[in-house]
Amino acid sequence: MSKQGEVSFLESVNKNFDKAASYTDIPKGLLQQIKVCNAVYEINFPVRIGNQIQVINAYRAQHSHHRLPTKGGIRYSQHVNKDEVEALAALMTYKCAIVDVPFGGAKGGVKINPWSYNEEQLERITRRYTSELIRKNFIGPGIDVPAPDYGTGPREMAWILDTYVTFKGGEIDAAGCVTGKPVNQNGIRGRNEATGRGVFYGLRELCNTEDAMKKIGLTKGLEGKTVVIQGMGNVGSFTGSIMQNEGGIKVIGVAEYEGSIYDAKGIDVDKLIKFRKETGSIIGFPGTKNLGSRDAALELECDILIPAALENQITKDNAKKIKAKIIGEAANGPVSADAEEILVKKGVLIVPDMYLNAGGVTVSYFEWLKNLSHMRFGRMEKRFDSNTYSSFVGVVEKLTQKTIGAREKEFLTRGADEIDLVRSGLEETMINSFQQIWETYKRKKKIESLRSAAFVVALDKVSNDYQNLGIFP
Ligand code: GLU
Repeated sequence: MSKQGEVSFLESVNKNFDKAASYTDIPKGLLQQIKVCNAVYEINFPVRIGNQIQVINAYRAQHSHHRLPTKGGIRYSQHVNKDEVEALAALMTYKCAIVDVPFGGAKGGVKINPWSYNEEQLERITRRYTSELIRKNFIGPGIDVPAPDYGTGPREMAWILDTYVTFKGGEIDAAGCVTGKPVNQNGIRGRNEATGRGVFYGLRELCNTEDAMKKIGLTKGLEGKTVVIQGMGNVGSFTGSIMQNEGGIKVIGVAEYEGSIYDAKGIDVDKLIKFRKETGSIIGFPGTKNLGSRDAALELECDILIPAALENQITKDNAKKIKAKIIGEAANGPVSADAEEILVKKGVLIVPDMYLNAGGVTVSYFEWLKNLSHMRFGRMEKRFDSNTYSSFVGVVEKLTQKTIGAREKEFLTRGADEIDLVRSGLEETMINSFQQIWETYKRKKKIESLRSAAFVVALDKVSNDYQNLGIFP
């Protein structure tokens, strides 16, 4: 997908790696081991589509075995290739390290346009791909755990689990072989929204950081900020909806495959999602102006631009035209390394993918833990907590001689459900990790970007792991 004269996605990731590596004192050999992709499996398998046999090209890349299992989504897209899968797998390694999720990075890709197949054909492709992974020992709760990515979702994850269980009957932890499953099939509440919700927590934390906002001339706090979103898939729609409903931002522009729209008064994201479902397009959404081209919205004047589609969307061709003060990378690799140099010089604050979109894998980790523990979060303590709080409220009422209202009482005496715990674990993770990156950015004066700071945080953790394994001195 790289544009002419621009380095490829993998080269871009490696270029960023090298820059950040120069800020560390990690030995050269160890840096090389962290950078390379440990294993890639490429497979061409036949699938019957209608009355023809189609040969499908697919991959699974395990970037780093320093922690196991390896972890990362499976992408269905016509642009899948070895370099792209390797680049995405590498990002997963750094992402997991940044949010303290104890996995190595991986990524899978199937080179198909998922929208040109029907459900039955997609099921056949997914099951065959899974069987190939099983055959080569490239999947398993302690080996390599896939999840959704571009073009896949809970439905595909359910097929993967079912195929795995068929082959591995009796494996007690089998449900942990894949995450992002439907809630009623060993999934976890809150996984579907997790990446978008994580983007919200991450950007909220940035906007609450006074010196960060001062640096780019914005007021503190997320509320009232103007936002442009590219991509209304799973990540873009949850990001927009949660940021609007819980963060009080105003979405003024949206870009999608079919074009882009603008409304200075604000676009109701929930209504827009519904509208696109019904009409198949964002164009014509009441009150909005059609901007003509797909890329036009990216160039709108706004506080925060959120690319939530694919890699290499902001390149050196359009970087100069970007007027946003903050770019929040909800997608993986949306800003090329060349574009980043231009933007950083312009004073744009880029919140890097390997931190900002890590909410998905964070909740995947919770799902995997749930699968290994064979129990829903909150099951043991919910009732106990609720009873304790009730007694406490009773004591307060007795001591104060006042009655607490029914609604307040209900709120005060509630025990946490799975969704509450998942959201709170995610919020805590995103806040903590932001602080680590921000501290590194501030402490090391020569670090020019949040991406380099995030890389340094990741490299320190991964190199520590290697040293703890005793492989490197
Ligand atoms: N595909 C997602 C990502 O790029 C999620 C990965 C996962 O949950 O393992 O982060």
